[in-house]
Amino acid sequence: MCICVDCHWVEICQAYHAVERQHGVPHLTATPTLMPDQPRIHVQVLDLPGGVVGVEWDVRTCDSFVADPGRWQRLRPDQRVPT
Ligand code: SF4
Repeated sequence: MCICVDCHWVEICQAYHAVERQHGVPHLTATPTLMPDQPRIHVQVLDLPGGVVGVEWDVRTCDSFVADPGRWQRLRPDQRVPT
């Protein structure tokens, strides 16, 4: 899972904004202002049912990470946390 969902900066982060774009999900903000330090994005190619290939993007480590467990969920309490 992407560590960003539990990061204090998730709604203003440019790297997470890019992850949202790759996943094709709605953005938390249209104008992210934070450039994180050294985010390392893990890209995984997945075999999905029906012979479809999917690509999963997750930030696994980041020097700007500030633990704020459940931050994404508090911003979108009516939605499922992205995985
Ligand atoms: S962990 Fe890094 S890339 Fe992810 S939201 Fe936080 S600052 Fe941005």
